[in-house]
This record gives sequence, structure tokens and C-alpha cells, in this order.
Amino acid sequence: MTEVNKSIDHIISCLSGYDPDSMSVSGALDIILELTREYCKSLGSEFVPLTDAPGRVLFNDLISTLDVPAQDNAAMDGYAFAYKSLRQENETVKLKIRGNVSAGEVMSDEIILGECVKIMTGAKMPNMCDTVIPQEFVSISNGMACFTSNFVKEGDNRRMKGEDLKFGNPVLQRGKLLSAADVGLVASLGVPEIEVYKKLRVGFFSTGNEIRSPGQELEEGCIYDSNRYTMSAMLNRLPVDVIDFGVAADNPRILEEFFQNAASKVDLIVTSGGVSVGESDFTKQVMKSLGSVEFWKIAMRPGRPMAVGKIKKPNEADSMQTMVFGLPGNPVAVMVTFFIFVLPAIRQMVGNTRYLNKKLKFPLITSIKKKKGRTEFRRGSLVSMNGDIFVKVQENQGSGILRSMSEADCLVILEHDEQTYEAGDKVSVLIFDGLQESGE
Ligand code: AMP
Ligand code: MG
Repeated sequence: MTEVNKSIDHIISCLSGYDPDSMSVSGALDIILELTREYCKSLGSEFVPLTDAPGRVLFNDLISTLDVPAQDNAAMDGYAFAYKSLRQENETVKLKIRGNVSAGEVMSDEIILGECVKIMTGAKMPNMCDTVIPQEFVSISNGMACFTSNFVKEGDNRRMKGEDLKFGNPVLQRGKLLSAADVGLVASLGVPEIEVYKKLRVGFFSTGNEIRSPGQELEEGCIYDSNRYTMSAMLNRLPVDVIDFGVAADNPRILEEFFQNAASKVDLIVTSGGVSVGESDFTKQVMKSLGSVEFWKIAMRPGRPMAVGKIKKPNEADSMQTMVFGLPGNPVAVMVTFFIFVLPAIRQMVGNTRYLNKKLKFPLITSIKKKKGRTEFRRGSLVSMNGDIFVKVQENQGSGILRSMSEADCLVILEHDEQTYEAGDKVSVLIFDGLQESGE
């Protein structure tokens, strides 16, 4: 078995004190990241036009093939001259104007001491010129540019060749999640397309006899599926291709079909529901029969039960496996476990070297009590008071109350070993949305 396909059995066999019924959040994340560590090596790469590159992950280190800018040029509209033309401080200088040069033009005349050239921003500096005086400081009389020497220092308003990117120097590193600025940099090198990791194929489905899709009739005792929609929204921010496999009934034969079908089509499957100890929770037994999957009780709230592992791809070699996350069913638990475990795993699987969630610290507005021995993720909001930012924890923390997730703008992390927090204590916070596309 290659490194890429390290199994969860192999990873846990190397751990001392492994207890699936009492996993800490950090212990669970460590195992997950170990399981996905080498995955991106098998993902392969493709070239995409720069316009499609933001949000993708760079496959190779990028070295500059040019100096940017390619030549010294003017940073302001003004007059370019050799600083040596000035003799003393606070003198009135008069320089003979030899001509004009705009951006895109080149002045090839040799400029000598006592002369200058009217220059526009971005134009190449004429020979011998090293300084630009902005036009606001200059008056013109009889073909001469007149100004006071105090208004300018040597080298002012001159952009140096290669000051942005230097030929042969590193520009971006492999594993960087490409931003708007990154594709701008690549474009400034004149490169129209870039090699990125291929997209990861991710499939998901919900489980449960009571789950109906929006648009269907809701019979008594049933509920509408929200998990597939939160999941798809969270996945769509990542460099992945997504397949929605729908809703599987709590029936071992149907569940097996769902898993086999999904495993044949995707690299990662995320399910919700059916991983606790309920009588209709067949997801566990089916997952177990198809590969090597562990069932954890994680010391966290919300989101205690979770399944993690790999299942075999049907009709392929044993080493070809699909990663699976069996998330709990409760809508808030799904979002929280996705955020805490699935998101860093996916970032790692797509080659992003900054895969950990970015945590920020803010003081609490009120005191909080929690149970020692588990990590609690409370929904919270950031509030501004007298110019400082505080975090407020929402009242209703029930794991079925999806509304509180919609009203929140962050998760507040209450640490495993803590019991009480006083108002003003700083807590770690995971901010939702824009800030979370790239991790630490
Ligand atoms: P389970 O883990 O399957 O027992 O589900 C736990 C709770 O989450 C139950 O109340 C389910 O009805 C609910 N639930 C499970 N899946 C979904 C879903 N896709 N959308 C909304 N609620 C769900
Ligand atoms: Mg269920």
C-alpha cells in the first residue's frame, strides 16, 4: 500500500492510548490530517487560464521569468533629470527641456547635466536620468523647467527595474491558494495560464427515512433536508467538483448502493445522519463492511458521533480508496463538524499548505460556564463597543437550531480543559465566510 493510501487502521495502530469512545477534538483532527496528508500527490494537475485560477491551488513553485517592471520608469508625471545637475540646497534650478516621453515611448537621446525630459507616469527613464520632480513643483519659462532644489531628493519618483519581481527569484510557492493578487502577479509576468492541482471530486448524501427534499411533499413525521444544502454551500467555496447523491433511506441494501455508487465516482464522500447508536443507524455497519472506518465519540459539543475512514472503490485495485466522513445528523452538528474536521482535510487533499482553520482571539462580553473535558463550539457574533471588538455568545445553542447558525458570524471555541470564562477573557474564534477560504 502506498503512502497515499495509508489506512486509518495503520494510523491508529501507531498511537498509544487510542480510545474511539473518547476522542479529543485535537486528537481526531490529527488522525484525519494524517489520513489525508499525502493525498494531493495523487490528485494530478492541469493548466487553467488565469481568469479561472483564483481559488485554485498552485501545483509548482513559480519563479520569475522577467524583471517587473522591466526597466526603471517614472512613478509620477513630471520632469526627469540627473540629480547631479543640482549643485546646492535651496537653489533655484533651471533645466533645459529636451523633449517629452509618455508611457510606452522610449527617449533614446543622451540627456546631459543641466537638461531634463518631460515624462509621464510609467514611461522608461531616459539615459542618465535618475530623478523625477513632480510637475506640480515646476514652472516653465523659455523652454526651461524651473524649480527649487529642496523639493526633490536623489532618486525620487523613480521605480526601479525588478522592484516588484526579480528575474530568477521565487514569486509564489507550491500549495498556495491563489488570490486575486496572485493571479495579478502571474499576469504581470506575461503568463496566460497556470498549473494548479486538479479539483477534488466530492460527493455527499443525507441518510434517514424521515428526510424529504425541498419541493417534495412533507408527510407526517418527516422533515426537510437541510444538510445537503449547507454542505453543498460549504463545498462550493472550495476547489472541488461536487456531486449531490440525494437521500438514502435507513436500509442497509440501499445505503450500500449509495456508498458503492459514490465511491466509484468521487475521491471523498461526506454523509450526514445514522452514525449514532440508534436502531436505524445502519450507516455504521455498511461503512464498516466496505472499508476501514472508525466510529468516534468526540469530546465536543455539538457533534459527538462521527465516522472517518476509507472505503474501497468498486471494480478497482484495493489500493484505490475513497475517503469518507460520516457526520452526525443534526444540522448544526453537521456544519460544525464540517468546519472543524472536513474543511482542513479537504484543504490538505487539494494541496493547500495552509489547511488549518485560522483562529482569532477576542474578549468575551459575558461570562460562560461549560463542562470540563470537552471542547464546546458556541455560535457567536462579533460586536463593536467603543472601538474594540468583543464576542457575544448566542443564547440558544441547541444542535437542531440552525437559525442560530444563520444569525452567528463565528464559532467561539471553549477549550477542552476549561470550565469557566469571565467577561473580558480572550477566547479563540473561527470566523465564517470570506475569512475561512484559506487556513493557517
Ligand atoms: P441521526 O443522527 O440520523 O439520528 O439524526 C439526528 C437528528 O438530525 C434527527 O433528528 C434527524 O431527523 C436530523 N437530521 C438528520 N439528517 C438530517 C437532514 N439531512 N436535514 C435535517 N435534519 C436531519
Ligand atoms: Mg437518521
